[in-house]
Order: sequence, then structure tokens, then C-alpha cells
Amino acid sequence: MVEKRADAVLKVLQQIYSMPKWSGARRNAFETLIATIISQNTSDRNTARAFERLSNRFEIKPEVLANAEISQIEEAVRAAGLYRNKAKTIKAVSKIILDKFHGSMQPILSLPFEESRKTLMTLPGVGPKTADVVLLFSAAQPTIPVDTHVKRVAQRLGFAPATGNYEDVRSSLQALYNPQDYLTVHVLLIAHGRRYCKAKRPLCKQCPISMYCPSKGMMI
Ligand code: SF4
Repeated sequence: MVEKRADAVLKVLQQIYSMPKWSGARRNAFETLIATIISQNTSDRNTARAFERLSNRFEIKPEVLANAEISQIEEAVRAAGLYRNKAKTIKAVSKIILDKFHGSMQPILSLPFEESRKTLMTLPGVGPKTADVVLLFSAAQPTIPVDTHVKRVAQRLGFAPATGNYEDVRSSLQALYNPQDYLTVHVLLIAHGRRYCKAKRPLCKQCPISMYCPSKGMMI
């Protein structure tokens, strides 16, 4: 039964991976939004470098970034790639938060969950994954952001339809786990995708959850 496998997989993953320290603290919503925009199509390392550089140059606040010179934002986020687009998005999103939401994410995050998610997705550069990251990490809302690792691991484990899109994977995973575990599931599936269940040549022979995986040993 898939529910039992899902439960067993989470238990094993909790034993082999530790949760990062930052995962226990609620993060500033605007900073999470900006960091997630920077992280699109780049590695964690480049995201961290670009976010740090941006933070060194500017206070990460809507009123500051909305009025910053675009060339200076570009320069700060260059390490993350697609820096022209990202700088434009960061400035535009900051301006909207400033003008339409009184410079705070709170009016959005205090809406009922679906409304909050929809409103976030009206912001430039914010798709479902970015919205879900902000909702999960900065508002403790029950959602599982689906990045490339989460999608791949969930599908190989048979926890989500093999050809499912973002929403299919998210809703399938959410149906298998308790809302209080969503953050853990998100973080640990990413960790597992990085260490064992790699996109090319997954390490099935060494994989500690292989006994629960219908894709074990398949050439994927
Ligand atoms: S057995 Fe292979 S395909 Fe299944 S989760 Fe482990 S690494 Fe991924």
C-alpha cells in the first residue's frame, strides 16, 4: 500500500539526513521571496552568493529594492545567472509590494491559503513553486513546493503520477503525508535526490530506501 511505503520512506529519510538548522526558524517572507526569485534556474551555491552580495549592498526590503538602481541590482545578482531578468523582477516585485501592499507581505500571507497562493502568483516572477516556498517557509502554510528533485524522487517512488505536472505531484504527495510533515518531506526528498536519486544514474544499489522503491535498478 502506497501510504505504508510513504510512511516507511519518511522514517528512513529522517534517520539518514539531518534537517538543516534554518529549517526550524520561520523566515522573513520578503527575503524568502527575493531569494527564491534569485534561485530560479541556478544552484544553491550561486543563489547564496548572489543573495549575500545583494544583502551586502541593500537592505532586503521592498522600499529599498523598489528604489534601487537596476544596474546595481544586476551587478549584485550576477552570480545567479539570468541576472538582467532577475534584477528586473526583483525591482518590479518590490514596487508592487510597496505600492499595492503597503510595503509588507503580511496582507498577502494573512489571506486564506488558496487566496494567498493565488495572490502571490500574480506577482512578477512568482510561479507555483516560488509561492509554495514562501507559504511553507515564511507562513507555515500546508503546502509542498515541488522542485526538480522532489518531482523526480516522488515519481520514481511511485508517490506521484509518472507524467504528472506540478499540481499533480504536489497534491499526490500532500495526500500521502500529514501537513505537519510537509516541510520535512520537501527538505528530505531534495536531500535524497541530491545524494542518491540523481537525475542521471541514480545510486539504487546503495540507496537506503530501495526496498520501498518500484523503480529500483531501472535504467531511468
Ligand atoms: S532505489 Fe533508485 S530510483 Fe528508487 S529512490 Fe533509490 S535511488 Fe531513486
